[in-house]
Amino acid sequence: MNDAPRNDMDNRAHARIDLDALRANVGALRAKAPGAAFMAVVKADGYGHGMVPCARAAREAGADWLGVATPEEALALRAAGLGGRVLCWLWTPGGPWRACVEADIDVTVSARWALEEVVAAARACGRTAKVQLKIDAGLGRNGAQPADWPELTRAARAAERAGAIRVTGVWAHFSCADEPGHPSIDRELGVFRTALAQAADAGLDPEVRHIANSPGTLTLPESHFDLVRPGVAMYGISPVPQLAGPEEFGLRPVMTLAARLASVKRVPGNHGVSYGHHYVTPGPTTLALVPVGYADGVPRHASGAGPVLVAGKWRTVAGRVAMDQFVVDLGGDAADPGDEAVLFGPGDAGEPTAEDWARACGTIAYEIVTRVGPRVPRVYTGAR
Ligand SMILES: *Cc1c(COP(=O)(O)O)cnc(C)c1O
Repeated sequence: MNDAPRNDMDNRAHARIDLDALRANVGALRAKAPGAAFMAVVKADGYGHGMVPCARAAREAGADWLGVATPEEALALRAAGLGGRVLCWLWTPGGPWRACVEADIDVTVSARWALEEVVAAARACGRTAKVQLKIDAGLGRNGAQPADWPELTRAARAAERAGAIRVTGVWAHFSCADEPGHPSIDRELGVFRTALAQAADAGLDPEVRHIANSPGTLTLPESHFDLVRPGVAMYGISPVPQLAGPEEFGLRPVMTLAARLASVKRVPGNHGVSYGHHYVTPGPTTLALVPVGYADGVPRHASGAGPVLVAGKWRTVAGRVAMDQFVVDLGGDAADPGDEAVLFGPGDAGEPTAEDWARACGTIAYEIVTRVGPRVPRVYTGAR
């Protein structure tokens, strides 16, 4: 007897990834920044949606560039056959500079040590490295400090003249673009403009100057420059949920996380539920077991709080989220083992959204989708 699931949708749990929605989101975002090139940010396994299928779909929808954090992610895109421009930005000393130069990946340099390493790698393989320089406009994370910028740009120009590198871009990242009107936004744009002028003074002539993430793309036209770099909005999640939901930006959530009930049973009143008995049935009732837990990315902070659509209604996680499972109380309602429980999705079939989960857990929807674990198969619809 072959009792393998017919397909992943019949399995314990799956994440449906709607590539038609992703392509439409790319189109909507490109329309917001018509004068700018488009970099689809697919780091962290495409925010949990699957890096390679999302990168392909974004390319089909006209993304000029792909953006990832680590060089390993960039190399994985190449290994999967994705050509065209790819930028990565999170390096540590001794990273795979040479492999990236040989794979024609644009690499980001924020400091002298990184410039020295990429120049050495370019010389070692006899190629010209494509380098983008990053300024810390105020985020306080990576990027060169403004005080170190003139010297970094001069050193980069010298390496360019020597044929080791070509400076293809100058860029920065906002600290508070998700809070429209925040005073840091104009300040950081000012620092970025000064950095661009200093790069020009050093003799650099980059192809692309860029600073706009999703909130910049959607709410700050003056931040678009030559290229926009949206991530979360491409997956249909609003980067400014306090202001507007995805539909108001013409975006549609791409991921639906669903599971099949593993148990439905009647229990008496005063029955403790899950570790620690933080939920106790108020009377005789029906409990349904949803077979996903924190190993699958369901936050333990959703204990007693996370919403889930089961048997036609929103339920709340009863008691603690465990590693592999959690329970919901169906009250007087009926359900069967195998029925679908929808944790989140676009929201238009009555299910909660990733934003609802973020609110319930005190986090952001970025984290809700990105943390969905490798045990959950991704099932793609709309693949071409
Ligand atoms: C993650 C990231 C982005 C995309 O940010 P969103 O807020 O998801 O649009 C853009 N640029 C850099 C440098 C990033 O790290």
